[in-house]
Amino acid sequence: MRVLKFGGSSLADADRFLRAADIIANNAQQEDLAVVLSAPGKATNKLVAVIETALKNNEVELQISELETSFNQLFSDIAVLLPNIERTDFDNQVKTSLFQLHQFVHGIRLLGTCPDHVNARIISKGERISIQLMKAVLQAKGQAAELIDPVKYLFAQGDHLEAIVDVEVSTQNFQANPLAEGVVHIMPGFTAGNAKGELVTLGRNGSDYSAAVLAACLRADCCEIWTDVDGVYNCDPRLVDDARLLKSLSYQEAMELSYFGASVLHPKTIAPIAQFHIPCLIKNSFNPQGAGTLIGQDTGEDNLPIKGITTLSNLIMVNVSGPGMKGMVGMASRVFGAMSSAGVSIVLITQSSSEYSISFCIEEEDKLDAERALREAFELELKNGLLEPVEFMDDVAIVTLVGDGMRTSRGVASQFFSSLAEVNVNIVAIAQGSSERAISAVIPEDKISEAIKACHENLFNSKHFLDVFVVGVGGVGGELVDQIQRQQGKLAEKGIIIRVCGLANSKGVLLDGKGLPLSQWRDRMGDVSEKFSVAGLAALVQRNHIINPVLVDCTSSEDIANQYTEFLAAGFHVVTPNKKANTASMSYYHQLRDVARNSRRKLMYETTVGAGLPVIENLQNLIAAGDELEKFNGILSGSLSFIFGKLDEGLTLSQATNVAKDKGFTEPDPRDDLSGMDVARKLLILAREAGMALELEDVEVDQALPPGFDDSGSVDEFMARLPEADAYFSQLSADAAKEGKVLRYVGEIADGKCRVHIAAVDENDPMFKIKDGENALAFYSRYYQPIPLVLRGYGAGTEVTAAGVFSDVMRTLGWKLGV
Ligand code: ADP
Ligand code: ASP
Ligand code: MG
Repeated sequence: MRVLKFGGSSLADADRFLRAADIIANNAQQEDLAVVLSAPGKATNKLVAVIETALKNNEVELQISELETSFNQLFSDIAVLLPNIERTDFDNQVKTSLFQLHQFVHGIRLLGTCPDHVNARIISKGERISIQLMKAVLQAKGQAAELIDPVKYLFAQGDHLEAIVDVEVSTQNFQANPLAEGVVHIMPGFTAGNAKGELVTLGRNGSDYSAAVLAACLRADCCEIWTDVDGVYNCDPRLVDDARLLKSLSYQEAMELSYFGASVLHPKTIAPIAQFHIPCLIKNSFNPQGAGTLIGQDTGEDNLPIKGITTLSNLIMVNVSGPGMKGMVGMASRVFGAMSSAGVSIVLITQSSSEYSISFCIEEEDKLDAERALREAFELELKNGLLEPVEFMDDVAIVTLVGDGMRTSRGVASQFFSSLAEVNVNIVAIAQGSSERAISAVIPEDKISEAIKACHENLFNSKHFLDVFVVGVGGVGGELVDQIQRQQGKLAEKGIIIRVCGLANSKGVLLDGKGLPLSQWRDRMGDVSEKFSVAGLAALVQRNHIINPVLVDCTSSEDIANQYTEFLAAGFHVVTPNKKANTASMSYYHQLRDVARNSRRKLMYETTVGAGLPVIENLQNLIAAGDELEKFNGILSGSLSFIFGKLDEGLTLSQATNVAKDKGFTEPDPRDDLSGMDVARKLLILAREAGMALELEDVEVDQALPPGFDDSGSVDEFMARLPEADAYFSQLSADAAKEGKVLRYVGEIADGKCRVHIAAVDENDPMFKIKDGENALAFYSRYYQPIPLVLRGYGAGTEVTAAGVFSDVMRTLGWKLGV
């Protein structure tokens, strides 16, 4: 014998209802079946709503007639596909149910209250409709079917609305009145009968539990829960796109998962089937061929230390504390006793080891009862100041990791908590069951999505998401967007989903929290209107629960650089080729790093020096390993490398500058290069990286022009005047050549000072051969001397710079990249 349960989602319309019937009819060919059905779709919610309306003494006619229409519509739609279906029993059921409903509602409105036994009868009406309809459908398909009345068979105790079935007594009922063989037995879920023979309900979503107890009473070979997903996933598939389907779970794992919020299974379901070792299979009625998830004695073939992450929301955290609690015997029992007598159920408990406080979570709706119960129970202690006023923290949720294997694997908790920290989730409390099968953190409710996504990314080795916002989409920024577009597919194959969620230029910003389509993005930048702002981007990130937003600043704007701290504080990583932030005041320099550290975000600026060359990374690694920078010299400007290289070949300064300008190697205004300020900024960045506390003014800069040269006027005027500098440079070149040297424009760090100047270098100097736009950086350190560590290669150009920025963007993922 097998028990098959179909949830409301599997009975919501004609098509689904008939699929369920097909599954039943097919299975009935193989084996005896008992079937448990929920109410169709959301019928139970609608019945609950009828009671609420009646309690307010409002008109319910419309709600009831809508229900009637939906039932009749369901039948008519089925009849179109199954014309020989018999209607009489169904019609009678609908009529009696609705007649009773009207009478109950009348009573509720007169009394102004709805007793629980009446409530139970009302909210269980949907199930009665389902079973009559299923019986008719199966019969029309030639499958004999009979109904089981749970009020007669399932004996339950306790509350009318949250009753618990006594499996032993119920088993005897089935033994006393055995079910006939050869027919499919259909039982409405959600209900049972109490000692008085009254109908009771088993708690919302209780049909899973009905199926479990029926399976236990019949000692069924299997209990199958048919729903609208392929089985149990490692997290709620509605919250996480790439949630993973689990092949199997132990009873205990399933119990913890459902208790802590996996709504695919009602928490009470597991106990009865575990007691009789009945395997439970979760299957998808939309995909009957799928293997589903098997819940059984052991954790099964998935063999994962962590099986799932769940969340439970709409909770309140209660904190009872005070000096009087220390060492006071029986305090916890009084707190929990008060809760229990007020009918408040406790979801999770933590106690500080100092015994100074006890904290626990309750459901939101129980707040007033809990408050009153605690006030009454501790009236004296509160009055005498032995207890502080009880604190209630609203809007919290619990995130729980579940897995049998957590007992034996280390580091799970730390990964769990650091994942939460990574997305700025403040952990309010922590609890771990003694079974070590579940570990929970209480967090603010509005952070659930971020928490689940971060834990899923980090703990399940699943996809990593990078959501990029590019400010400044000209040369480097534009190229970066193109490179991302080209690389998206390849990265996706490696499990890294990179999306561009924002593009901004001086006119405005284009945003899409789910990722902008990148085809023709340049055209679409033409009609942007929304203005760029930290607040606007941060709001988008929050709305879309983005956990890895990366701001890429490809402008040279000081204004944007001044906003990095705000971006970091709002949870963005910041990646930038813009030198302005790192060369602002030392106090901003420190502030940036402090904010980044506190918000656990990365500030990446590899491309500020030497474009795509791995300069910063190498220097940081050396310093971190205890090396010290003693001296540095380098050619840090691609344009000046080109221009000075051309001087070797006999070109004059003005000729060389014109060629460089024509080839696009200089800034639009070549004075930006010739002034030496760009090199000065790069040198300052290196010096600061090496631990020197210098300001930009401290860098001694000799421009790449003759001293006192008139650099005023427009670009054209300046270029026209530039030949006046040629003689000076020709002389310098000739003097150098006499000594076998060439001229280079170098940045130098020595004796704690930074200097940018024209130097004549001989062939032993690493700078001697550097020209044609190449950069070279020679680091003389404690470990690297007398031969320096030299990095050389193209240090400019849109493509290499964009590629360097891209690689910084990827590196914001940190260790996850290597996974
Ligand atoms: P039914 O109507 O069949 O009883 P439910 O809506 O009660 O269905 O439960 C199925 C739903 O549970 C799924 O549609 C899914 O959205 C949700 N769910 C939450 N957590 C999980 C999980 N870990 N695995 C699978 N489904 C989950
Ligand atoms: N129909 C009931 C409810 O919605 C029971 C169930 O579907 O499990 O709560
Ligand atoms: Mg359900």
